[in-house]
Amino acid sequence: MSKHAATFITSATDLAGCPDSSLYEFALVGRSNVGKSSLINMLTKSKDLAKTSGVPGKTRLINYFLIQNRWHLVDLPGYGYAQISKSAREKFNVEVSDYLVNREQLKHVFCLVDSQHPPMESDLSFMAWMEEYQISYSAVLTKVDRVKANALKTRRENFIAAFEEYQLHPAKVFTTSAKSGTGSGPLFDFIQSKLPKAKKEKKSKRAKSPHVNFDWMKKK
Ligand code: GDP
Repeated sequence: MSKHAATFITSATDLAGCPDSSLYEFALVGRSNVGKSSLINMLTKSKDLAKTSGVPGKTRLINYFLIQNRWHLVDLPGYGYAQISKSAREKFNVEVSDYLVNREQLKHVFCLVDSQHPPMESDLSFMAWMEEYQISYSAVLTKVDRVKANALKTRRENFIAAFEEYQLHPAKVFTTSAKSGTGSGPLFDFIQSKLPKAKKEKKSKRAKSPHVNFDWMKKK
């Protein structure tokens, strides 16, 4: 099976609506417009598995994708300036927080940040919140094709300095570009390293001795 094999499973509005499955889950989260849908499409080698859109805050559901028949990629709604009413946004954040804190199958969160901009307070405080709840997470710098190599090095260092300042400990800092395809390999390898080892299928006795002896049939 291709390492990119992906199927859309369902959209849940809250924790109670999440699938009844024991598969490990890896979630993507970030501000609207950070490039989350594009990254999902890159990871799944699909043009429109996740709908990309320029409208901030449009995706408001917890979207589930089954990858390689082995794990779930969970697309969480963009936080920040969602274009919905304040009360709706608060309710919404409560539901996403509930998922992040209480979903046992959730193994890791990839927090997307746009590499074009310096570290933002909202991203750092979201990571600090995850840290408080002992949620395992990494930072993913998106759209790196838009930043020159030298500037990217400095930007990465800025992020690392900000993480230190905020006492944040992301497991990794990834760099990705949905445009050039950069960074997909390391993300997949990381996820792979967190998955339970696939059990080797027991060879059946039949497979070991394919030549069945029918001599007994000849006996009278
Ligand atoms: P989302 O709101 O986080 O799902 O963001 P989208 O994936 O819809 O992307 C927002 C905008 O950024 C779109 O115009 C994308 O084409 C653009 N974009 C996303 N990823 C990249 C990238 O890696 N490189 C470049 N150059 N543009 C990107």
